[in-house]
Amino acid sequence: MRLSDKISYVALIMCTSLSLSSCTTKEPMLDGPVPKTLVLGLDGIPLRTFQKMQDGGYFRTFNPVAPMVASFPSISDPNWSRLYGLPPERGYTKAYFDPTVKTRNGQGREDGGLTSHFKRHPKYDLMSDFRLDGAWEHLSMLIWTETTAYYWLEALERDFFKFRGRDTYFAIIINSDIMTHTLGEKRLMQYLEKVDQHTERLQRRYKEMYGQDLEVIMVSDHGNSFLYGEDVPYEESLNKQGWKVRATIAGPRDVAFYVPEMLSFGAFYCQPGSTRDLAQAMAQIPHVNVSAYLVSPSEIRIIGLGAQSEVQVTVDEAKQTVNYKVLRGQDPLNQATYFKKGPLSIDKYFVLSLKDTYPYAAVRLWEAFTKNSQTKPQVVVDPSYGYVFGNKALRLITEFRGFASTHGSLHHEQTMGIFASTRRSLPAIRPDDFKNHVSVRNYGKIVTSTMSRNP
Ligand SMILES: [Zn+2]
Repeated sequence: MRLSDKISYVALIMCTSLSLSSCTTKEPMLDGPVPKTLVLGLDGIPLRTFQKMQDGGYFRTFNPVAPMVASFPSISDPNWSRLYGLPPERGYTKAYFDPTVKTRNGQGREDGGLTSHFKRHPKYDLMSDFRLDGAWEHLSMLIWTETTAYYWLEALERDFFKFRGRDTYFAIIINSDIMTHTLGEKRLMQYLEKVDQHTERLQRRYKEMYGQDLEVIMVSDHGNSFLYGEDVPYEESLNKQGWKVRATIAGPRDVAFYVPEMLSFGAFYCQPGSTRDLAQAMAQIPHVNVSAYLVSPSEIRIIGLGAQSEVQVTVDEAKQTVNYKVLRGQDPLNQATYFKKGPLSIDKYFVLSLKDTYPYAAVRLWEAFTKNSQTKPQVVVDPSYGYVFGNKALRLITEFRGFASTHGSLHHEQTMGIFASTRRSLPAIRPDDFKNHVSVRNYGKIVTSTMSRNP
């Protein structure tokens, strides 16, 4: 760890412990209609864990949970942004490699480090009616305690009942993902038990006050798999193949990579002319499942099985169709079976592949380049199940804070978040489908036309 990083950590711990005692929310609106729907966005709750809870008799006021199928990478920023109908952020994560910057020696450099990853708030977070300031982000692995998570539940109830002005109230909590990463599934389930008690109490209180039922909707942005993520040895393997991992890109065999977290996905940068070669090289790294690169806005190539296989994915956005064609070798993602008769409607493909190991993989990989980040990498990589691309400083921290789960990949365990309502039976959704079920139209805009005590 560099000295500047160490100083940043100390500063971080200090400012965060201050902010823990003053978890804040947006100033509540005091006029207008009482909300009829409470949307609880819980970061990183896996479908399977929530199903276990429902099977065990929890969340009885909710209908059976449906999957929220994260786009790729199955991480927070792209998926929350799309759930809430917002444009993509600059990068997939708050600190990222920015290929658009011209440097003294070449092209591109890291934008922000671990601390800016902590300080930067994406739009979806800023626009939520309720959120925790301070102790949020994966970096708070360092300082986060369960107390914060429980405090949040109390604060949410207080603020929700003060709020007026829109039919739907949005609350987002990131700590659930951090808890999952550091403490594992058992502790997450204990926490969810508390969430269940609180939402039931909130519903009872609402009914007493207004004589009507409050709809509570729970949604999460991605899943998690409960395992200790091992590092993909990308640097060593790329070196052997004649590439050099560098801070900026100057030559045709330079690769840039920056990750502020431990994630089961990687975004890699090189000179545009080297893209295909880099995708081939990445696919030969041990514990890489597939790599992919963009050919044109409507076409990607997927390289897999040690670079022995290649798939062409074409998406026709106007017709809303997708095609998946194995050009050589075996099918690395087992998706070709759906495309025996050629292109398929995107919606149909979504439904057909829902139970796959890599659900909806073809479209999700294409979206990584076209929908999920303003800056675009040359190559995205899906590691084998159980492997991660990690920040080296954070790897040290996991040694004493724990590292119990990971996400980011195409794998269904890491992909499937949750979508459940107390009022309705909801279907499986992709992030963009959320708006068909929840009124996000006035999200962030306050409606103050009517004064009413009744919903
Ligand atoms: Zn996470």
